[in-house]
Amino acid sequence: MKAEIIAVGSELLTPDRIDTNSLFLTEELNKLGIEVLRKTIVGDNRELLAEAFRDALNRVPVVIASGGLGPTEDDLTRETVAELLGRKLHRNDEVVRAIEARFRSFKRDMPAVNLRQAMVPEGAEVLANPRGTAPGLWLEDSGRMIALLPGPPRELKPLFLEQVFPRLQRRVSGVRMFHRELRVTGLGESHVEERVRPIYTRYSDVNTTILAAPGEVQIHLRAWSDNAAQADTTLDEMVRSFELALGDRIFAHSAVSLEEVIAEILTTNRATIAAAESCTGGLLAERLTRIPGSSSYFLGGAVCYSNELKTAWADVPSELIQAKGAVSSEVAIALAQGIRRRVGSTLGVGITGIAGPSGGSQEKPVGTVHIALASSEGVKERVVHLPGDREMIRLFATQVALDMVRMHFLFNAKPRASL
Ligand code: AMP
Ligand code: MG
Repeated sequence: MKAEIIAVGSELLTPDRIDTNSLFLTEELNKLGIEVLRKTIVGDNRELLAEAFRDALNRVPVVIASGGLGPTEDDLTRETVAELLGRKLHRNDEVVRAIEARFRSFKRDMPAVNLRQAMVPEGAEVLANPRGTAPGLWLEDSGRMIALLPGPPRELKPLFLEQVFPRLQRRVSGVRMFHRELRVTGLGESHVEERVRPIYTRYSDVNTTILAAPGEVQIHLRAWSDNAAQADTTLDEMVRSFELALGDRIFAHSAVSLEEVIAEILTTNRATIAAAESCTGGLLAERLTRIPGSSSYFLGGAVCYSNELKTAWADVPSELIQAKGAVSSEVAIALAQGIRRRVGSTLGVGITGIAGPSGGSQEKPVGTVHIALASSEGVKERVVHLPGDREMIRLFATQVALDMVRMHFLFNAKPRASL
């Protein structure tokens, strides 16, 4: 079954607000096997709104709208749809009482304008909204289904799940969406594409999307089918081929971040980590501590920007900095070993580099970053030349550092994380 989403609100056409409701709605519709063919964002304008609904209803049997159900003059969804379908609006006493009760619970009187929200098109079902004043509306017309939902996400989401989802579920066919996701790091989008294209072009019934995100590439496989066993077999076979093509560059088989994967790896290996960061200014520590429970593996770190603090906080010999320069393999290694020793962690990470935009030179251009990982087995060091602006370089540098941690455990043959 196919659907369209209409997001109503002039604020969604300004640079200040973004339509996020449709992302939630699409995800939920997909779970029901309903494919979203088109999304329309339309301002609070009667003619444009009528046109959007008319066109959508001519194309698809399910139209979900959000917004425009407020009490003010610019909220037009209810009136416009009623007029389009030739339905009269009647005041619904039960809704009036619910709105009055809501105001009473705040010790206020209901303003007269809120009575507009109690107007219900003939034949429509009221979708009670305990989290706001505007109820949603469910309409059926010549086999088409229309849900009108309030705009605020905290009202729309539960209302959809509680009242719209079950109504749609009763009507959809057995076709569902089956999905797999792989996440890759250390390979650019086009390199990933090059390696996997020969695989996915063989599967015309699976939709493959390759999405570049900062520091990673996501591969989404989607199949629509009424045969779960067959869809799962096909997708699993594809995933195995992708694994052969991408090898250890795959860091996850679900929508998890690299720091979540690292959290799992460190936890299962009972390992701890500390970091001495120069050019990333604590970003690695920030990412590691985003994960709840990170105190069990992240012991701490130092942001040592100045040469003096590299020496004072991570025991980097000042002669070494003089001889090799602050941005060098030797200093990255000394940072990693120094912080590991100081903190007493299983692993120590050292990062030093040039995030730019200034400070680059012929032999050490902007984007040059040295990253070292110290452990009881010794130390590994990588120098990378990262593209992009300051923010990107810093993010990529932490991505490489996290990936070095991942590879350390992959090759030290401890139990592999399940993610
Ligand atoms: P409305 O139901 O039109 O009165 O919408 C009320 C508020 O809900 C707006 O001011 C927005 O903050 C929010 N909102 C409306 N539509 C959306 C949308 N598509 N995505 C996210 N927030 C929205
Ligand atoms: Mg609005």
